[in-house]
This record gives sequence, C-alpha cells and structure tokens, in this order.
Amino acid sequence: MTESTASSRAARMPTTEQGGFPAQQQELPGATAEMDPVPDHGEESYRGSGRLQGLRALITGGDSGIGRAVAIAFAREGADVALSYLPEEQQDAEETARWVREAGRTALLCPGDLTEHATCTELVGQVVADLGGLDVLVNNAGVQYARDAGLAEMGPERIERILRTNLHALLWLTQAAVPHLGEGGSIINVSSIQAYEPSTSLLDYAATKAGINNFTVNLAAELGPQGIRVNAVAPGPIWTPLQPATQKVEKIEAFGADTPLGRAGQPAEVAPAFVYLAAPAEAGYVSGTVLGVTGGKPVF
Ligand code: NAD
Ligand code: MG
Repeated sequence: MTESTASSRAARMPTTEQGGFPAQQQELPGATAEMDPVPDHGEESYRGSGRLQGLRALITGGDSGIGRAVAIAFAREGADVALSYLPEEQQDAEETARWVREAGRTALLCPGDLTEHATCTELVGQVVADLGGLDVLVNNAGVQYARDAGLAEMGPERIERILRTNLHALLWLTQAAVPHLGEGGSIINVSSIQAYEPSTSLLDYAATKAGINNFTVNLAAELGPQGIRVNAVAPGPIWTPLQPATQKVEKIEAFGADTPLGRAGQPAEVAPAFVYLAAPAEAGYVSGTVLGVTGGKPVF
C-alpha cells in the first residue's frame, strides 16, 4: 500500500471499534454528552463543497445522532438549517446549532412535540417564515422501545407513541411542507434496516419503518409531476442516543457486531447519503428510492 492510499484510508477510518460498546443505559429521549463514547457526527471530518448552496432544510430530530450529522453536513454544503427536537433536548440542539453557525449558515431552533398535529403544521409555518422558504424536508425524528420485548408487553401508550412519532408526524409534516417545496425540492424520510430484517423486540417500530418505505415510493409517484423528489435512507445500527435509551444492556454490548462489516456505524457515516439525495445536481433523477447505509445488510 502506498503512503497516500494508507492516509486516505485512515481519513475514512470510523471511530467505532469492532463489536459493541461499553454497558450503558439512558432514559428517552437520551443525551449525547452521556454517551460513552460520544458519537462522531463529522465535526472534525466533514468537508463541504457547495453541493447544497443556498438551500433551506428542516431536519426533525436534528439535535442529536443522525440528525446532528446531517445538520453539520448540510450547513457545510451551504444550506440553512432548521432543527426540530423535543424541549428536553435543548442542550443537544444548541450544540448542533453551534456547528451550523460555525459553518457560516443560519440555524433555527424549533423545540416541540411532533406527536401533536398543531406542532407539525406550526413548525413548517415558522420555518418557511424565518428561513424565507423550504427546499428540503428531512423526516428523521423517530422513536423505538426495545426493552419490553414481546407483543404482549407492548402497552397502548408505547404503541401510540411509536405510531404518532414515526408515521403520523411524518404525514402531517409532509402535508404542511409540500405546498412550499416547489420544483427541485425534495423530501428525505428515515427508514431502517428493520423494514427488511425486523427484530421481534421492535415489532411495532419495524412496521412503521416498512410503512415509511411504502409512503416514500407512493408519494414519489404523486409529487414527481411537480418536480419534487421523495427518497428514504435506511440506516443499519448507528451509534446514537436512541440506542442506550431504548435497548437492553446486552444489545448495547454487541451493537452492530452482527453486520457484515462487524461494527456499528457512526452518524457521520450516514450523513453523506442525505447530502447526495438532497443535492439537485447529483440526485436530480433519483426519486422513490431507499438508500441503505447498513454495514452490509441487504435492503431488498
Ligand atoms: P436520536 O435519538 O439521536 O434521534 C431521534 C430524534 O427524534 C431525537 O433526538 C428527538 O429529537 C426526535 N424525536 C423523537 N420523538 C419526538 C417527538 N415526539 N417530537 C419531536 N421530536 C422527536 O437517534 P437516531 O438514531 O439518530 O434517530 C434518527 C432516526 O434514525 C430515527 O427515525 C430512527 O428510527 C432512525 N434509525 C436509527 C438507527 C440507529 O441505529 N440509530 C437505525 C435505523 C434507523
Ligand atoms: Mg436527541
């Protein structure tokens, strides 16, 4: 191997060790600072090149995890970013906003619980007013519970919370956003490997992710004639606050080890898929697709 090959490989090297993570637990919605190790959102590695220059994006769940990495990448590509998150995640949201502003772009902070219809419609209205329009909607907010594992243990509040967060909010936000997107605009939904290879402990969550795939394809057909593209990203196991906040300790200790690449991914390794799908000059003919970022697990 030449020295330059070695150094370009080193530059891509993920920070996740092979296998899993130290035993740890949190309560939902989870906090980045309490994670060991703290995830890599591309703070030190992502280099922008103007691929989203002047676009305005709304990223739900933009405070932490995959959403934070997408916010950093979008801002470094020249986009202004609105971040939606739960009020108790203010600290995480401010940290993400700091990185967006450091990239020279506007960060709009929008706390609120998206399981309420009014929050979704008001959020889109606020973003359009404050950013002067909307070009990209990233439906990334989502929740799962994996500790009460069997169907019989899945109480009504849990099921209601998962469906309202992962599906209702996605439909409501999309309905509110579409009239503002216009030709060249796009929607990126967040699916999961769980849509293809469901875990019994995530029965309800996995069903919402399969639903998101179906929604993505169907809406792409409806909005195509308006020049609006609709796609999804399906991550595999990614090291984010959602995991210690919802998985059993034994799952954390082996998190990602069952993928072909033998490890979990970092949020920084998922963000470039969103940049690609949002970039009109690169993905202008890409709609109705689900892009897997799974460490090698199949998404078909
Ligand atoms: P995360 O906890 O960092 O992000 C999820 C975010 O969703 C939270 O930060 C929160 O702001 C938001 N959210 C949840 N409920 C909400 C509500 N009622 N109102 C407003 N916001 C709410 O975890 P993440 O893993 O980055 O999750 C992002 C997306 O990625 C989710 O849709 C998740 O299902 C999906 N996903 C994650 C993984 C993984 O392994 N981490 C794998 C596949 C898919
Ligand atoms: Mg969060």
